[in-house]
Amino acid sequence: MAPSVFVTIKCPTWSSLAMFGERNPRLTRSCKDYFNPPKVYGSVHIVNEDLLRLPVGSLKNATMITLLQLLVIAAPIFQVITASDPDPLQDFCVADLTKDLTLNGYPCKRAANTTTEDFIFSGLRNSGNTSVPTGAAAVFGFVQDYPGLNTLGLGIARLDWAPGGLIPPHTHPRGSEIIYVVKGSLYAGFVTTQNQLFARVISKGDVMIFPRGLIHWQLNVGNTTAMAIVTLDSQSPGFQLIANSMFGSDILDEVLVKTFFIDENAVRQLKATFS
Ligand code: MN
Repeated sequence: MAPSVFVTIKCPTWSSLAMFGERNPRLTRSCKDYFNPPKVYGSVHIVNEDLLRLPVGSLKNATMITLLQLLVIAAPIFQVITASDPDPLQDFCVADLTKDLTLNGYPCKRAANTTTEDFIFSGLRNSGNTSVPTGAAAVFGFVQDYPGLNTLGLGIARLDWAPGGLIPPHTHPRGSEIIYVVKGSLYAGFVTTQNQLFARVISKGDVMIFPRGLIHWQLNVGNTTAMAIVTLDSQSPGFQLIANSMFGSDILDEVLVKTFFIDENAVRQLKATFS
């Protein structure tokens, strides 16, 4: 018996089956034909007029055409989790940084002028300067630093911490982040738009996700330096530090007084710190 793992899909969503009909005549029928009466096509079990049940656990017994059927039928589900950057229309498009930023990325360097070196980045070999008030440093490998990433929907960065150092709360408006802790222990977390907190100490070898756009941070809670590599699903994810944006951007004092319920002296003090 196949494990009882099922995917259910409502009939109106699978217009993509029409494509399939050209290659598999038994799928040329209308959507409703599949549901009435209950039938079995390979491992695709039709259970009633509204729902399909796909026994995912029986895939090892499925023929290739059945696997294809499953992929086509399930396609509408996966459309909602596409990458944040646009898909490329060519193998690569190494950014020509001498040209102005246009539309949604950089113009491509000519393929004939592209070399292996365009795909290699050595900027993460060394730590950034952690002798700063926050005790932490980020070195970015985004498209501006690493032109080979242009159009590929990828970014990378190296993070280093002195003991007690903090990468302060920030967001990446255009990318989700995944961190891999190479050394040390970090109190890492993020807060959702509903102010739900997800945070704990992660250590060497651990990986954690910070979903796109959500406020997150990492504090070194160990006695040694710490180091991590992060990747993001954008060539230009953005890096917006919350405190710096609030107090280092010359917002009218009254806005900050009324936002944080602090007096004007405190606002001036914070502005002096972040400007
Ligand atoms: Mn981050």
